Amino acid sequence: MSGPTIPGAATAAFTEAYGTEPAGLWAAPGRVNLIGEHTDYNDGFVLPFALPQRTVAAVGPAPDGRWSVCSTLAPDPVTFGVTEPGEVTGWGAYVAGVVWALRDAGFEVPPVRIALASDVPLGSGLSSSAALESAVLTALIDLGGLDVPLERRPALAQRAENVYVGAPTGILDQSASIRCRKDRALFLDCRSYRIEQIPFDLAAEGLAILVINSNAPHQHVDGEYGERRKSCEAAAAALGVPALRDVSTAELDGALRRLDDDVLRRRARHIVTENQRVLDTVSLLRSGRVREIGPLLTASHASMRDDFEITVDQVDVAVQSALEAGAYGARMTGGGFGGCVLALIDADRAEATAAAVASAYQKRGFTAPTSWVAVAGPGAARL
Ligand code: ADP
Ligand code: MG
Repeated sequence: MSGPTIPGAATAAFTEAYGTEPAGLWAAPGRVNLIGEHTDYNDGFVLPFALPQRTVAAVGPAPDGRWSVCSTLAPDPVTFGVTEPGEVTGWGAYVAGVVWALRDAGFEVPPVRIALASDVPLGSGLSSSAALESAVLTALIDLGGLDVPLERRPALAQRAENVYVGAPTGILDQSASIRCRKDRALFLDCRSYRIEQIPFDLAAEGLAILVINSNAPHQHVDGEYGERRKSCEAAAAALGVPALRDVSTAELDGALRRLDDDVLRRRARHIVTENQRVLDTVSLLRSGRVREIGPLLTASHASMRDDFEITVDQVDVAVQSALEAGAYGARMTGGGFGGCVLALIDADRAEATAAAVASAYQKRGFTAPTSWVAVAGPGAARL
């Protein structure tokens, strides 16, 4: 790849917009979720790891006492003072939301100027929004000398997105961007927020995760997401439990008999079985049996396709062709209706697997996919 690095691009954007050098650079990664889809808002389990792709914020003090932000994607700075949700709209809302969430929690937020650059693909389910929020949040905490322990940070970034931006997402994305570590997957209990760093050094096993961006156009994502959340809540209410997390696989058959709606039954079955697949994946990784997680990944995909109904042809074809090319397992990752697929493969099969998927796409006339090997990287930090 040629052209400036992401930190270089953020610094250049800062200098161009504000005519001075930044005080520092902060980076936060995008993420993929290895397994555990739509389980976060059901108080369940997820297992993301951080991508090498990240968002970098070049940040410096603001002499006018306000906040300004620009991006390589939107070079004209957006400037705002103290605001309430709804006042800053568009992409600037993600930054205004972080300032608001910190202030609302009682912190004195330093006024700063920010320039952003990123190589996290936007809107592909790799969480460019959380990468942006987490980079900005970490910069504000460091520059302001704010006493915000790591374990509180994801919920602050999540509030920015839920309340200020108005996107009803779970805690997964921000937790991953802030708390992931190199060569580890982050096992997160979305009820207690307890985390455990799980060994995930695939190269040592001769394995790799190939991420395949389907490049499929996202359609109806927000509406479908809201509809899935409602179904899960309705199923939990009908079963008399606080969340679907509280139904075990042993109780599943009995629970399904008590639901009289076939759609609710299938939605609930996905969540209950998916939580168990996360637990099983964690056990296998803990004991170094990495290849054996493959069938769990593939079963997760089938559950998302048949029971939760959140896949599209492009991701189903990517999973199928990766498996035919010899992957140990493959599944869509992210909220669904497009986005990315991940495949567990032998490290020397990356090019062949990517080529097999590309050729299947070409045969069907789909927009070409983009594929790369993802190595688990570090969470948000000052550079
Ligand atoms: P995802 O998080 O899956 O990438 P979202 O729709 O949640 O998709 O977030 C994407 C939005 O985040 C973009 O439409 C834009 O508003 C904002 N965003 C993310 N990264 C940047 C960036 N580098 N510069 C400007 N806006 C960004
Ligand atoms: Mg997002």
